[in-house]
Amino acid sequence: MAENHRELLAFLLDLESRISPLRYPESGQSWFETIVGDGDVLLSAPHACRHMRDGAEKMGEEYTAALVQYVAHATGNSAIFTCRKSDEDPNWLATGEYKSMLAQLVRDYGIRLVVDLHGMTNRHHMGIALGTIYGAASKDVDVVPPFLRHGFERVAVDTVAPPLELPGGIQQSPGTGAERHGFTLVVDHPRFTGGVRNQTVTRFVSEQLGIAAVQVEIASVNRIVHRASTTDWPFEYRGNPTGISATVDALSELAGVI
Ligand SMILES: [Zn+2]
Repeated sequence: MAENHRELLAFLLDLESRISPLRYPESGQSWFETIVGDGDVLLSAPHACRHMRDGAEKMGEEYTAALVQYVAHATGNSAIFTCRKSDEDPNWLATGEYKSMLAQLVRDYGIRLVVDLHGMTNRHHMGIALGTIYGAASKDVDVVPPFLRHGFERVAVDTVAPPLELPGGIQQSPGTGAERHGFTLVVDHPRFTGGVRNQTVTRFVSEQLGIAAVQVEIASVNRIVHRASTTDWPFEYRGNPTGISATVDALSELAGVI
């Protein structure tokens, strides 16, 4: 492993270890944190920890909190990310504490682009899925080139195979099938449009706050430095250091484009 990858992975591992994705906050604690930078980009990770959606518990999207913190610090930009379990799903409910705080950050710090990070499993055959609501959310920001410059290859939506539906569904190793599609980039896949149907962060930002937004769904292979086997998901897993590094570089460049 290249030395620079080793350093990056150690940083991400440390940042991820500081959140408590399975625990509700105790009194006086919040379930999300913010970082204020000098730049005009806000990185967001609303699903970094376990959360409830319509009464069902949803798993946290691992390393999305680490990624937004790393990129915000590396580029001098702002961030908002969940740090503890919550009953609110900011990417599902039209309003809530997270969206209120995000709106406040956008207003107070002259934010012009919100990059909302999410995690998908490798079973979708995509390394990165950008959701721009068919361009309506990203407005005049060209969100694709930073990814192409860091090794991702854009493919047409209709060339992507249907998700793997193996027995047990998500209870598969997150590594299944990742080797072949880790660097595949898709824009506005019907499953990951950024909010054509749902009250996503991306939709809220573009429609309610009037600035550009993009949803970035990152496959496990490009995001998870290391996860231990748990009772929820009994697989130890390590993503691809080269893919994680390329993702960080592309996000950092994206955070510098405006
Ligand atoms: Zn998500």
